[in-house]
Amino acid sequence: MAEVLALDCIVVGGGVVGLAIARELAISGREVVLLEAGDVIGGVTSSRNSEVIHAGLYYATGSLKARLCVDGNRKLYAYCRDRHIPHRNCGKLVVASDASELVYLDHLLQQAKANAVHDCRLIDRDELARLEPKIQGVAALVSPSTGIIDSHRLMEAFHADIEAHGGTVVLNAPVLAGQLVDDEVHLSIGGRDPVEVVANLVVNAAGLEAWTVSQAIDGLDAATIPERHYARGCYFSLSAPAPATRLIYPVPEKGGLGVHLTLDLGGQARFGPDVEWIDEIGYDVDPARADRFYAAIRKYWPQLPDRALQPAYAGIRPKVVGLAAGGGGDFVIQGPATTGHPGYVALYGIESPGLTASMAIGEWVAQLTREAAREAEPQSGIKLDKGSSCNCMKAEAPMFEP
Ligand SMILES: Cc1cc2nc3c(=O)[nH]c(=O)nc-3n(C[C@H](O)[C@H](O)[C@H](O)COP(=O)(O)OP(=O)(O)OC[C@H]3O[C@@H](n4cnc5c(N)ncnc54)[C@H](O)[C@@H]3O)c2cc1C
Repeated sequence: MAEVLALDCIVVGGGVVGLAIARELAISGREVVLLEAGDVIGGVTSSRNSEVIHAGLYYATGSLKARLCVDGNRKLYAYCRDRHIPHRNCGKLVVASDASELVYLDHLLQQAKANAVHDCRLIDRDELARLEPKIQGVAALVSPSTGIIDSHRLMEAFHADIEAHGGTVVLNAPVLAGQLVDDEVHLSIGGRDPVEVVANLVVNAAGLEAWTVSQAIDGLDAATIPERHYARGCYFSLSAPAPATRLIYPVPEKGGLGVHLTLDLGGQARFGPDVEWIDEIGYDVDPARADRFYAAIRKYWPQLPDRALQPAYAGIRPKVVGLAAGGGGDFVIQGPATTGHPGYVALYGIESPGLTASMAIGEWVAQLTREAAREAEPQSGIKLDKGSSCNCMKAEAPMFEP
């Protein structure tokens, strides 16, 4: 019979969220092994996003997205300063192109305040022109606490913290199957050195594959696994100097997503992501999608030159709510009280603002597991709905996705 390794905690998935959870568990004194299927950390969705530190303006008040984004934003800035992780608190403008869009800005300002984001303000056309002379609009909402970050340096810092606190990150270690047995979780790990392990705690942070991992766990109640949907977002880069020094978001059109301008730390502009619902994972960017980008961008930057957009890259949002139901949905973070097993925690639908929220998610999961040891869900922070099959907040869909 093959050797079975006995471990304390296993985190499945080495994206920014799995790393943040493993870091928090290691700091809290647990023995942690993080298993990553790929040959690098953060090679999937954590490498395919906008690298924006969101402020938490849009999300339904009280939702996990709102609470963990606002908390995560503050934690992330403090951590970046402390660990010298490249980032820039550049701020963002949500721009109204005409008078009909002003009501949205008012609504967004109220939503931000309700989410405890108190630093936003509305500016008129003149102030917009002073701040960003190339951007056209009748008014804008300024979000000073929005910024950008080098997500790879962040993940490297999390990795270093895990190891500094006695944890281990194992690459090329895909979790293939598992079983819930009494108080333990058994896992079969493939890759170059297949091994069987038994652990007190397994945290499923496998991103787009979180559903696949849970479905392969024998003994887990299938009713706890939420719906799985994927929405691809494509980016186009700008082969010209950036027209702004802040991130620029339009007011979204009805039923559609605003094509926004984000910047990297080198000041290079890119536009996106758009939204395309897909059945299979794939990252090709169709150059034909540029037509829609030109039209949308020229609403707030009329001087966008012809042929200035180049297909860049795509990322895929893991979602628990599909297009037919509005495509919104909250993060789903299931502690033992919801998975029905004292040693199994699962995260689904960790789309944007997962990067911003990563440290807050790590703390939340560590708290869930501590409370589970006392047979209760966390007492502070968000009140979870224990009666439902998953810990979805009863929250309205966000007004739109950032
Ligand atoms: C287009 C787009 C733009 C975004 N922009 C932003 C933004 O600007 N700001 C922001 O805050 N958030 C943003 N996000 C969200 C953010 O990128 C994600 O929430 C975050 O990266 C999710 O991290 P993760 O660790 O959950 O998932 P991932 O990064 O996907 O990591 C999961 C890991 O699990 C591994 N894995 C899968 N199956 C197994 C298995 N069986 N065994 C072991 N390992 C396995 C994978 O290889 C992967 O490395 C964006 C997302 C998208 C798609």
